[in-house]
Amino acid sequence: MDKRQITDTIVIHCTQTPKDMDIDVAKVTEWHTQRGFDTIGYHYLIKRDGTLQSGRDEDVVGAHAVAVNGTSIGVALVGGGTVDMGWENNFNPEQFETLKTILLKLKEKYNIEKIIGHYQVEASKECPSFDVPEWLEKMAWFSLAKIALQAGSKIYANRQKTKMAMSDAQLMHAEKMARGEEAYQGKLLEARQSDWKDEFVLLILSAPIVVLAWAVISDDPEAMDKVKLFFEYFSTLPSWFTNLWILVVASIFGIKGTQIFRNGKK
Ligand SMILES: [Zn+2]
Repeated sequence: MDKRQITDTIVIHCTQTPKDMDIDVAKVTEWHTQRGFDTIGYHYLIKRDGTLQSGRDEDVVGAHAVAVNGTSIGVALVGGGTVDMGWENNFNPEQFETLKTILLKLKEKYNIEKIIGHYQVEASKECPSFDVPEWLEKMAWFSLAKIALQAGSKIYANRQKTKMAMSDAQLMHAEKMARGEEAYQGKLLEARQSDWKDEFVLLILSAPIVVLAWAVISDDPEAMDKVKLFFEYFSTLPSWFTNLWILVVASIFGIKGTQIFRNGKK
């Protein structure tokens, strides 16, 4: 058998056998040699249970689609026929799974440009009994969705890892600081900079100042009154609450303050 010089196409076939007819490479080889072929015409055969079997050598010219035998690999699915020699899409999901796998493998190995159904190069046949371009499109979308899903969960996993790594790093710093191996200053500040609570408290603290500034710039006495009212209300709040509020603010910003204080002491 001659070696193929070009491989740019894969042709999908079926054996056009009824769905309960479980045949394999040996049987198809027998049929094809009876028809005068040297051996089985296809390069691959996918059995009813999805098992992939090798037919003739992958690199030799096949005998499966007259128009493209010299440039293609032939992959056949067992089934696709009716008892009275009709065409029927009766394949098992396992067969499609195997088909997908072998197609991707061959596509990567050779520079495959076209994956077609036998009927696309031989109008008199309905082989392989299903709309190949439509199936390929569906498969592509499915693969894309699957890739997107995998990428999404990968990003999520990486984020979790980053969070864990960061808390590990913080813990390590804390331990080192406790052992006096590392200076206190800077480290906590760095860790705190990404903390949203700082921004939230800062926003609340800034609100009256912003309103006040706006009141001055726009010359709006009403806004100024509102700011005054705010501080009036704030001062009438129970002292335990205002003290707690100051404590919370101090605990968040206090670290930075302490640091400035420490730096100043040096
Ligand atoms: Zn065919």
